[in-house]
Amino acid sequence: MLISVIIPCYNEELVINETYKRLCDVMQKLPHSYELIFINDGSKDGTLPILQDLATKNSNVKVLDFSRNFGHQCAVTAGLNNCRGDVAVIIDSDLQDPPEVIVEMLEIMQHEQVNVVYGVRKKRKGESWFKLVTAKMFYRILNRLSDVKFPLDTGDFRMIDRKVIDQFNRLDETNKYIRGLIAWMGFKQAPCYYEREARFAGETKYPFKKMLKFALIGLFYFSKKPLNMATSLGFASIALGLLYLLWVLISMIFSLGHTVTGWTSTIMLIVFFGGVQLLTIGVLGKYIGNLFDEVKGRPEYIINEKINFDK
Ligand code: UDP
Ligand code: MG
Repeated sequence: MLISVIIPCYNEELVINETYKRLCDVMQKLPHSYELIFINDGSKDGTLPILQDLATKNSNVKVLDFSRNFGHQCAVTAGLNNCRGDVAVIIDSDLQDPPEVIVEMLEIMQHEQVNVVYGVRKKRKGESWFKLVTAKMFYRILNRLSDVKFPLDTGDFRMIDRKVIDQFNRLDETNKYIRGLIAWMGFKQAPCYYEREARFAGETKYPFKKMLKFALIGLFYFSKKPLNMATSLGFASIALGLLYLLWVLISMIFSLGHTVTGWTSTIMLIVFFGGVQLLTIGVLGKYIGNLFDEVKGRPEYIINEKINFDK
């Protein structure tokens, strides 16, 4: 059996060597052959030379070098598209997902005869309270809004078998929310609980902006409820408007109001309805933007060079 390990790397010069060592230790102990597929996602530091060096020393190390930074999900996609394993493991390069857990995942996969073993974070060390709180909230909200049920507190760290890899490679969405897509695919899936470590070195490559973009793709690609909410908001504001109109008419007919009271209510109306309209247009815009991305059908990534892959 061949195990492919998929490791996306973006500016990870401080951790790659250690990650390689820890992965090799784990993989060499298993009675299976393995390939380590490192994806250099347009790093601007010394990541690529380190990877090239590892690839010359060890032919199990394969490298996909992107022409620029395309993002974490594209890097994982490229790895899955190019791996030959009977099973594949998706793992972060910063050692937050301990490589030793792979052994456990394999046991669960073989023992329980499942197609997917997904890592569930029991604890997350070395992460800001802001990230912990927003992540927790996000996964729970997404679950409410989506028709697919996603396992909670689960990232991309997981083991999938050839059936799932092949089905994944058929998906041609441009913006992929991989953890969601694999849950959506079905098959037999089982959890593997682990403690998420602090990053080995360097800093997170997911600043708030990227996190938000990623979360919105998860939300808008797996739920149409925001569109319905926009409609509900529209109805609510019409109802409010009608009530207000009624009040204005009554107070005009029976001369209840004073002559200069108009200002406050006018501003209130403008602010309220303006807000509702902008929000609604914003939601529509997001969906149209996503449609635009998908319709263009551009490749998700461009590979500059493949190292150690057979022709
Ligand atoms: N990553 C990537 N491209 C990017 C951002 C991140 O390939 O544009 C990789 C990164 O090198 C790491 C993984 O994705 O292996 C997860 O990123 P990170 O650890 O920075 O995210 P966090 O764990 O802080 O959420
Ligand atoms: Mg990390």
